Amino acid sequence: MTNIAFIGLGHMGLPMAKNLVKTGHVVKGYDIVPQAVEAFTKEGGIGCKDIASTVADAEIVITMLPEGKHVRAAFEGSQGIFNLVKPGTLIAECSTIDIETSRHIHKEAEEKGMRLIDAPVSGGVAGAESATITFMVGGRRHDFEALKPYLEMMGKTIIYCGEAGLGQVAKICNNLILGITMIGASEAFNLAERLGLDAMKFFEVASQSSAQCWSISKYCPAPGPVPTSPANHDYAPGFTASMMLKDLKLATDAAQLTSSASPLGTEAMSLYTLFCNNGGQSLDFSGILRFLRGTHASDI
Ligand code: NAD
Repeated sequence: MTNIAFIGLGHMGLPMAKNLVKTGHVVKGYDIVPQAVEAFTKEGGIGCKDIASTVADAEIVITMLPEGKHVRAAFEGSQGIFNLVKPGTLIAECSTIDIETSRHIHKEAEEKGMRLIDAPVSGGVAGAESATITFMVGGRRHDFEALKPYLEMMGKTIIYCGEAGLGQVAKICNNLILGITMIGASEAFNLAERLGLDAMKFFEVASQSSAQCWSISKYCPAPGPVPTSPANHDYAPGFTASMMLKDLKLATDAAQLTSSASPLGTEAMSLYTLFCNNGGQSLDFSGILRFLRGTHASDI
């Protein structure tokens, strides 16, 4: 049995931590929101009141936090993870964050003798619940190999991408595609409906033809075709529009830094900014379909 500490029990972190509990390991969990800790305790985990009590005796630490600033807050300072765990501790930082923060955290980990990998994920809440998410990993290969069996308890596809930060690179490039394809799928479902083609029939075609993609077949933005997609639950997240906006910002910032053209990424970011500014920020990102339909802000 391994002692595992899990920090960040939100939409993704809670089901991921639950999957570790199911394997019989000792899993302690912490979140700044007490209700999240309560939910974890109900699932058989050991809920903690702060980071210090969560990571005490931890052999492995896993973090699943919103943004780079939250990651820094959790790792740095006298009450941060780096100051509280033993040298040699294995750490999987699974949040989607900017490359700069990721590399900074790697550097600090190395200086303190920790074995850290960046291991952001893809697959959504449904994937986290069914332990089928994809992990994309950056860091030293032997640290990756040591953590891989634990990642396999939470996910299905585990891909080593290379040196520190390259997991994040893979993730933001992946979500650049996701943000763009979700808008494309939403435009097409809206148009099909306005032209008199039923969403179920269009789904049958698009999910089996050249338009096929995750945004359609696994996460269809139109209500009906995919029972697990947020469209069937009034666009309750899932993956919030503000998280998608964050990821598109990460991608377009990185594009600027490297002089890489990203016209559709920039356009997708503008659309998600409008959607978020008009009341959509806490809805699932697939709710962009409603926005494109011209739904009035008060109805969102
Ligand atoms: P979330 O906001 O639901 O969960 C994050 C949790 O971290 C929250 O419960 C928050 O209270 C907690 N938190 C913040 N600061 C903390 C701190 N200092 N100490 C302890 N807890 C703290 O977000 P999420 O949807 O679970 O996403 C987490 C990360 O995973 C994000 O980077 C996101 O981009 C990425 N991601 C999300 C999805 C998805 O479908 N939701 C899919 C893939 C990747």
